[in-house]
Amino acid sequence: MSEFSLNLNEDQLQLQKWIHEFGVDVIRPAAEEWDEREEFPFPIVEQAAQIGLYGWEFMAEAMMNDPSGLTMVVALEELFWADAGIGMAIMGTGLAAAGIAASGTPEQVMEWVPQAYGDADNLALGAFAASEPDAGSDVGGYRTRAVYDEAKDEWVLNGTKAWITNGGIADIHVVVAVVDPELGSKGHASFIVPPNTKGLSQGQKYKKHGIRASHTAEVVLEDVRVPGRCLLGGKEKLDERLARVRRGEKGNAQAAMQTFEATRPAVGAQAIGVARAAYEYSLEYAKERHAFGRPIIQNQSIAFMLADMATEIEASRLLIWRAAWLGKNGKFKNAEGSMAKLKAGRTATWVTERAIQILGGYGYTREYPVERWHRDAKIHDIFEGTEQIQQLVISRAISGLRIE
Ligand SMILES: Cc1cc2nc3c(=O)[nH]c(=O)nc-3n(C[C@H](O)[C@H](O)[C@H](O)COP(=O)(O)OP(=O)(O)OC[C@H]3O[C@@H](n4cnc5c(N)ncnc54)[C@H](O)[C@@H]3O)c2cc1C
Repeated sequence: MSEFSLNLNEDQLQLQKWIHEFGVDVIRPAAEEWDEREEFPFPIVEQAAQIGLYGWEFMAEAMMNDPSGLTMVVALEELFWADAGIGMAIMGTGLAAAGIAASGTPEQVMEWVPQAYGDADNLALGAFAASEPDAGSDVGGYRTRAVYDEAKDEWVLNGTKAWITNGGIADIHVVVAVVDPELGSKGHASFIVPPNTKGLSQGQKYKKHGIRASHTAEVVLEDVRVPGRCLLGGKEKLDERLARVRRGEKGNAQAAMQTFEATRPAVGAQAIGVARAAYEYSLEYAKERHAFGRPIIQNQSIAFMLADMATEIEASRLLIWRAAWLGKNGKFKNAEGSMAKLKAGRTATWVTERAIQILGGYGYTREYPVERWHRDAKIHDIFEGTEQIQQLVISRAISGLRIE
């Protein structure tokens, strides 16, 4: 176990600088174009793969060789500072990788995670498909079914997934499906749908408010047949788990909580990357823009807004770094991961809105990037658990009660 420290080590500082430079040189100049095109920015992700920023080795290194937990959050803040839409395009496959790592055997992780990324010459993408049109927060409401065909040792998947990052354009889809409808959210399992599997297609592609370079679409599964080995964790483990649930034995809720909490600081780090971009830009703008014969920053109303923006970002980052360390070291007590994500999402939405205010009319136009950052910030209050779901998790953790 490492001690919690706010000092980044040499490797982390190098990584931060490396991503910042890629952000300045490659991502920022491309951000506006891909936001307007609302398409997956393949050429940019290919460049990220060429330098090793997009790839399974990067994820493995950042996740496994870092006892502090800070490497990933530092990387994400920098990437999303450059652009959240392209950042999400680069990081979307990580959702699939995390899904495989969470439920798969070590052999399955080694087989499927590299396939989800491909390589610089032959880029691949992964998608993690859990949400459905009628069930986002309410995971017990999933309807996508997986039925085992014992004669062929195959699973047959049917249903529709909604809001899926890289949905339909991914090579590897990780699909969460119901294997026992009577057990609610405890009757789920995750499956790999390998490349070019018959029956999987893209439904509608959503036209979004923000992170428009990231592809988000429905995934339709019609009699999708996958081999038995595509069940993450394997059949024996699934049968054992379902039997335990049917006997009414309590699962390891503490372990499950630690897993969910551990991914949330990462989303918070993305949010403050966007917030920092907007804060830095509006600080410079306020020093240069003159009104009534002086720079607008010399009005307290503007300077104090910037002071509050800086303070909120610093406070959010402290929560995120602490939560990332707690997550890595299995130390969560009161849903600190949810607290960090809740705070950072709100900070990003608020800071980017204030940035528009500081730029005035210019801030409201597409000539300046702050309106894009405001659109990009809002997603962090919604995905990976909405504001209200974070509040639910936190209130249950601090009270020990079943708050509804
Ligand atoms: C751009 C984007 C990318 C996404 N990527 C993925 C992905 O890759 N994979 C994936 O599986 N999903 C993905 N999602 C889905 C995302 O996780 C869901 O949108 C989110 O969980 C919310 O679900 P919902 O949209 O169905 O909203 P709902 O659950 O219908 O919520 C609607 C409102 O009701 C509130 N609410 C719901 N239940 C409660 C409650 N019990 N108490 C209080 N308030 C409540 C919510 O907070 C929200 O304000 C993505 C979504 C977006 C927009």
